Amino acid sequence: MKEIKQFDVIILGGGLAGIYTALNIDASLHVGIFVKDALARGSSNLAQGGIAAEVNWDETKIEEHYEDTLRAGAYVNNPQATRIMVEEASKNIKKLIEIGVHFDTNEDGSLIMTLEGGHRSRRILHAGGDDTGAHMMHDLRSILNQHQNIDIYEDEMAIEILHNDNKALGVIVINQQNEEVYVLANKIVLATGGIGGIYKKSTNEKIACGDGIAMAYRAGVTIKNMEFVQFHPTGFYVEDQIGKTFLISEAVRGEGGILRNIEGVRFMEKYDKERMELAPRDVVSQAIHREMFDTWSDHVYLDITHKSKEFLMNRFPTIYQYCLEHGIDISKEYIPVSPVEHFLCGGIDTDVSGHTSMQNLYAIGECANTGVHGANRLASNSLLECIVFGGRVAEEINQEKDTFGKINVVLPDLTFTHKKFNFKDIRVEIRDVMSKYGFIVRKEEDLLLAKKLLTKHYHNLKKINVFSRYYYETLNMVTVALIIIEQALERKESIGCHFRLS
Ligand SMILES: Cc1cc2nc3c(=O)[nH]c(=O)nc-3n(C[C@H](O)[C@H](O)[C@H](O)COP(=O)(O)OP(=O)(O)OC[C@H]3O[C@@H](n4cnc5c(N)ncnc54)[C@H](O)[C@@H]3O)c2cc1C
Repeated sequence: MKEIKQFDVIILGGGLAGIYTALNIDASLHVGIFVKDALARGSSNLAQGGIAAEVNWDETKIEEHYEDTLRAGAYVNNPQATRIMVEEASKNIKKLIEIGVHFDTNEDGSLIMTLEGGHRSRRILHAGGDDTGAHMMHDLRSILNQHQNIDIYEDEMAIEILHNDNKALGVIVINQQNEEVYVLANKIVLATGGIGGIYKKSTNEKIACGDGIAMAYRAGVTIKNMEFVQFHPTGFYVEDQIGKTFLISEAVRGEGGILRNIEGVRFMEKYDKERMELAPRDVVSQAIHREMFDTWSDHVYLDITHKSKEFLMNRFPTIYQYCLEHGIDISKEYIPVSPVEHFLCGGIDTDVSGHTSMQNLYAIGECANTGVHGANRLASNSLLECIVFGGRVAEEINQEKDTFGKINVVLPDLTFTHKKFNFKDIRVEIRDVMSKYGFIVRKEEDLLLAKKLLTKHYHNLKKINVFSRYYYETLNMVTVALIIIEQALERKESIGCHFRLS
């Protein structure tokens, strides 16, 4: 007997996009949030620098935020979505504060604003100094607990979208007891985050396997701009380390951090004379990659030693402490850094209300391609995207609530293998292939080789339908890796974070 659950709305993902959407949904609607791990795990909890927003309505400043976003995105951005994001920033930040999220303030109560790469003025709000995500998500989770209409299911992973005639009807979930549950809903929101788990080094948690994107792809939903994978220039470098990499926030460069190669020479002037270390991430990552090549090294340094220990301990308490625990006093020594996977600019294609190409299916946050990031995301615009478009999706769901009713669906008769397989070697190979051939510099012959290797694994995995979380994660990883490589092959020119050598 199959277990069936029914909700008005289900949200896959409990990061900023998922939780903010849930909190904005009408209290009369029954909402289920499903997360594949603990609620406190995911990129939103790791965000350091902050959230970009012109909080006070000033048309010139808003126009500048719009232009900075387009410039960082190499003008590949969707102008309409970008304008909506910068114009609706203030309204959504005020809403966050109103519901109980605390940002860092000056003694007079005004919000403290910092600067980051690609921004021409101080418009980044933060919380807990450099621990914005953890503070913000902690506040939001407590608020969530007060909402009786929202049920949260932790450690329950969605594996497939149920659909008929291009209309989404629900999802199949593997629950905590490792059983198959059919979860039906009038509206389904994908907020499953990024793809860092397909690279050897990423600032993301390894649970970021692109699940939502791969599930949507299997359901025939349009996926776009996947070649635009953003590599953060300053992951904390540890020799031979793979997996989750600690991030040295952009805000360190915002506060005057200088990049030096291993010979101690400042180099950004060669690559971007005007913006230097505050150039957007694609420019800085590509510059570091080149500098590492020229100096036969696998890292460079970030130098913030001209700031006092007191300033650094107050402004960057998390980074200061982390580096100290790893043997570096950043007030006296350079920080070793190298570029690592950080963020996916593309994803499940949506319009400005979060609709995907499938009826009743929405996508928000990092898994979505709203088009606001273009070919390269401007720092701190990601959290902003989560709230602006999460708010819009909730608004639309509220408007349509009177049409909701019982979902009638003929459940598919899926047959799963329950045999034990070990997918570790495939995962290792996916990460190797992506880190070698799908990294900062891409070449036609490498992309073709990557496609061949990944296609083999994709077909082998598709042949066996194993009922396990590990199987689905591996299938999802190879699926998104393959889409990235295919879309990277299609885009012949270098633009934003997609750099083609040949
Ligand atoms: C170290 C770090 C620092 C960052 N700093 C900043 C910053 O300062 N400013 C900024 O704007 N951005 C920053 N970013 C980017 C930003 O944090 C993310 O893009 C954003 O938080 C993504 O939010 P999300 O809600 O889309 O996804 P996430 O917060 O990653 O949440 C994804 C959720 O989906 C769930 N999930 C995934 N797959 C499934 C499945 N199959 N079934 C059920 N649930 C599933 C997960 O369990 C999780 O709850 C940073 C990112 C990192 C990693």
